[in-house]
Amino acid sequence: MKKLVLTIVAVGAMLAGVFAFVQQRQTRPQTPKPATQLRVVTTNSILEDMVHQVGQERIQLYSIVQRGTDPHEYEPRPSDVSATAEADVIFHNGLNLETGGNGWFKKMVTTAGKRFDGDVFAASTGVTAQHLTTNVEEVDPHAWLDLNNGIQYVRTITKTLTQKDPKNAAYYQKNAAAYTAKLARLHRQAQSQFRDIPEQQRLLVTSEGAFKYFSAAYHVTPAYIWEINTEAQGTPEQMQAVLAKIDQSAVRHLFVETSVSPKSMNKVAKETGLSVYSKLFTDSLAKPGQPGDTYYTMMKWNLDHIHAGLAG
Ligand SMILES: [Zn+2]
Repeated sequence: MKKLVLTIVAVGAMLAGVFAFVQQRQTRPQTPKPATQLRVVTTNSILEDMVHQVGQERIQLYSIVQRGTDPHEYEPRPSDVSATAEADVIFHNGLNLETGGNGWFKKMVTTAGKRFDGDVFAASTGVTAQHLTTNVEEVDPHAWLDLNNGIQYVRTITKTLTQKDPKNAAYYQKNAAAYTAKLARLHRQAQSQFRDIPEQQRLLVTSEGAFKYFSAAYHVTPAYIWEINTEAQGTPEQMQAVLAKIDQSAVRHLFVETSVSPKSMNKVAKETGLSVYSKLFTDSLAKPGQPGDTYYTMMKWNLDHIHAGLAG
């Protein structure tokens, strides 16, 4: 008990320190800034990579949610708050990814003394939102899993970097043009990639229903245990619904995402006798140096593994 109290006191003192630090920075008299690189913060690793592809070594980049971790609900660390307080630009996905559930992002932006109007930008601006099936009032955040939307994210990122740092405008635009051409090529291939698989077999079974935009773009049918990570995961009703869908199809394999617990999908595997074909990347990239550590390679991994798993 005593140990717990001490821990609470220690954590409290640490948070107070961060707040004091942030406060002090805000009240300090403005001195002219030396010519330095644009400081950019992103909420997750997918946005981190897109921003990196455009800004390369001409920006300073800090990303908040660690790879392999769920970005829907998150507890910011003191270093996340101080990086946000120091940033010139903050990118989040928007479409309720970071503001659903415990709403960690809104609270953190306020604590860091930043404004949604001027400092914070939604990378998904300009994308046509799809809504949740189980709650039509809410939008589905996973728009980046359609490469054509990913290209729109890169356009928004490029426009924002150009406005905030006009001296590097030509550099950002050149990088973005080469990068979006590469993404567009993969998108075109993906649009016909699943045509050789019979429709009854084209059921994409994952834990979270993250593949709504992907499925619409690439002609597969999505099935999931729970629709979004902020709701209860793996309830008996959810399990029954997904088992019924699998039963009505000719699907041959299941998949599991890298940023959720595999527990529920392992249960589905046991119930159906189907095996989990591979991991997929939805809400996070792989750790640097591993397959799927960029947005492009994550999408390529998903497309190739989903095709192989559905085909046989
Ligand atoms: Zn998600």
